[in-house]
Amino acid sequence: MFDLIAARAPGLWRGLNHARLAVEVPLLRGGAVYRGSPTSGAVALTFDDGPDPRWTPRILDALAEADARATFFFLATAMAAHPALTREVAARHEIGTHLHDHSLAPMRSPAAFAAELARVLPIHAQLLGQRPTRLRFPHGHAGRIGPAELREHGLTAYHWTFSSEDSRAFDGAVVAARVRLRLAPGAIVLLHDGRGPGSTQGPGHREATIAALPAILAAIKERGLAAVTLAELAARSQPR
Ligand SMILES: [Zn+2]
Repeated sequence: MFDLIAARAPGLWRGLNHARLAVEVPLLRGGAVYRGSPTSGAVALTFDDGPDPRWTPRILDALAEADARATFFFLATAMAAHPALTREVAARHEIGTHLHDHSLAPMRSPAAFAAELARVLPIHAQLLGQRPTRLRFPHGHAGRIGPAELREHGLTAYHWTFSSEDSRAFDGAVVAARVRLRLAPGAIVLLHDGRGPGSTQGPGHREATIAALPAILAAIKERGLAAVTLAELAARSQPR
């Protein structure tokens, strides 16, 4: 999907490839960050499609229990529906945007993307007093939106190193085992705390994610890693 950007803008892609020689490892793919540095000593758990009062508070509890922080890519529709919960998450964790309602239409053109942000940003401003700087495209699909558009709107796109595949899961033990197997320093892990319209196939709830989380957090600790926000992972991934 992000390779589409590379195909459409080969010069830009070469520029990115050149730029990343400055860091120890490639952190970008098609203009989206998909991992942190293996020397970061940390992993970033990311939760998409919330907030949802059925599941987000229980995820907050599990994170607090492990003294962990995370990044939530919220849908603006769900933020507007649950303002208190949105603020509760923001008090300790990082909030990025997963755009308005999980539609793929905004990525069909830069103009559509700008129009989408014009709907999304006021909701962030009203509830949190600031605009998001991190974006996860719905379904990770960048469409026709490349680094130039992202820069124009002050956004960095984040993909993931690997997915927990919790969308399709019924069994938390399976999700935890999958994450444990692929856990490595610098990893950005895709999880979900909500269910956006058209966002998932599967059981339609997040019980597997919630059941998996204590084991995932324990595995992170066992490896001597910290569970951090994407902002902190980025800071820890700067070349020294
Ligand atoms: Zn999503």
